[in-house]
Amino acid sequence: MEFSLETLKQKLCDREYKLTPQRRIIMEAFTRNPEKHLSAEDVYGMVKQNNPEIGLATVYRTLDLFAELDILQKMDFGDGRSRYEFSASDVHHHHHLICLACGKVMEFEDDLLETLESAVEKKSRFRIVDHQLKFYGYCEKCGK
Ligand SMILES: [Zn+2]
Ligand SMILES: [Zn+2]
Ligand SMILES: [Zn+2]
Repeated sequence: MEFSLETLKQKLCDREYKLTPQRRIIMEAFTRNPEKHLSAEDVYGMVKQNNPEIGLATVYRTLDLFAELDILQKMDFGDGRSRYEFSASDVHHHHHLICLACGKVMEFEDDLLETLESAVEKKSRFRIVDHQLKFYGYCEKCGK
């Protein structure tokens, strides 16, 4: 599911928040960026040139608000910086490949874990509803 500005406006409005210019600009950093695993610093780097009135603290606050409204999902890939991407609570989430050298985060779409899930369910009598998986290693560029 892709979030549009309309969705954002609605979600903000439901909680009596306004779609301020800053919030719109920060949202657009995500809709325009195909990578979409952005840290607050990444977002700040993208918006500061054209919007010098937006400070890093505003970016942090806005990202936390978007996460609270379930527009963005906050993720920790173990490099000390939280990253954000569009929340996808109603569909199964893709898996992530994290480069230990450059910090690049890639997505892996195939799931392949259904067999493992059913084996675990049978063995542990635990009903699994979701899982998360992160692969750590080196991207093509850094692995050379
Ligand atoms: Zn890399
Ligand atoms: Zn992702
Ligand atoms: Zn999966």
